Amino acid sequence: MEYTDRFLAIVPDPGAVEVLATGAAFTEGPVYLPDEGCVLFSDIPNDRILRWSESDGMTVWREPCGFANGATLDREGRIIHCEHGTRRVSRTAHDGSVATLADRFGGGRLNSPNDAVVTPDGAIWFTDPPYGICSDEHGLQADSEQAGNLVFRLDPESGSLDVVCDTMEEPNGLAFSPDWSLLYIADSSLADGRGSNRHIMLFDVVEGRRLGDGRVFAVIEPGVPDGLRVDEHGNVWTSAADGVHVIAPDGVKLGRILVPEVTANCAFGGDDDRRDLYMTATTSLYRIRVNVRGAPGPA
Ligand code: MG
Repeated sequence: MEYTDRFLAIVPDPGAVEVLATGAAFTEGPVYLPDEGCVLFSDIPNDRILRWSESDGMTVWREPCGFANGATLDREGRIIHCEHGTRRVSRTAHDGSVATLADRFGGGRLNSPNDAVVTPDGAIWFTDPPYGICSDEHGLQADSEQAGNLVFRLDPESGSLDVVCDTMEEPNGLAFSPDWSLLYIADSSLADGRGSNRHIMLFDVVEGRRLGDGRVFAVIEPGVPDGLRVDEHGNVWTSAADGVHVIAPDGVKLGRILVPEVTANCAFGGDDDRRDLYMTATTSLYRIRVNVRGAPGPA
């Protein structure tokens, strides 16, 4: 593959993808824990959360885990998980105790929370597509009790949910720009054939708690965009069938990190500089060293 100088400036060695761990069925939800120097990631069909560190290799961190998917950290370093099977957003405290933060809206159960991000005010923004209830493979098959596939903001004060977006077919990964003024949300409805979207939408964030009208930021192929992250310069790093694509804030596609398996998510980590990119791809966890840091704020 040909690489542009602009891409090589941020990914100097695109071929230097390491495989760190393998043996899972479908990996998702990577999150780096700086205090432990490890990565947690979900193995959804096997209903377990795995842990990888340089010293310990791969171990099982939680099993069963409510068919957990996406993960992030809150402002206090507690772990936020989106869970398909239990159809909730949970928080794991430093003592290991687990609390339900959200599992219902408008009188019905959530579909299957997929991915989450925490804003500086402590709110948790998360997506709620149907991937965990449309079969027993990535959750438990069940009917939707919601009017659609919504994106929510969980208020840190009241604990209540507000709908921030009801216009996407199947919202999936999400990430804010470094200054928190923009929100990127992947729509992956093409993946299950119920829709035709394989794009990332871009929204203006209004007063830190609402979204303006969305516009298409980028169409991702092959495959669909699933999980995504933003770096310190505002570049968007999104999963795709062939690896991770890097897109500049102006929408220019800078290049691709090719991964040997269908890739579903990524996260920045590394104790001192957050320049390691961890990538979850089907059976395995991969890593590549890059020249930019993940955007400031929670993972
Ligand atoms: Mg996802």
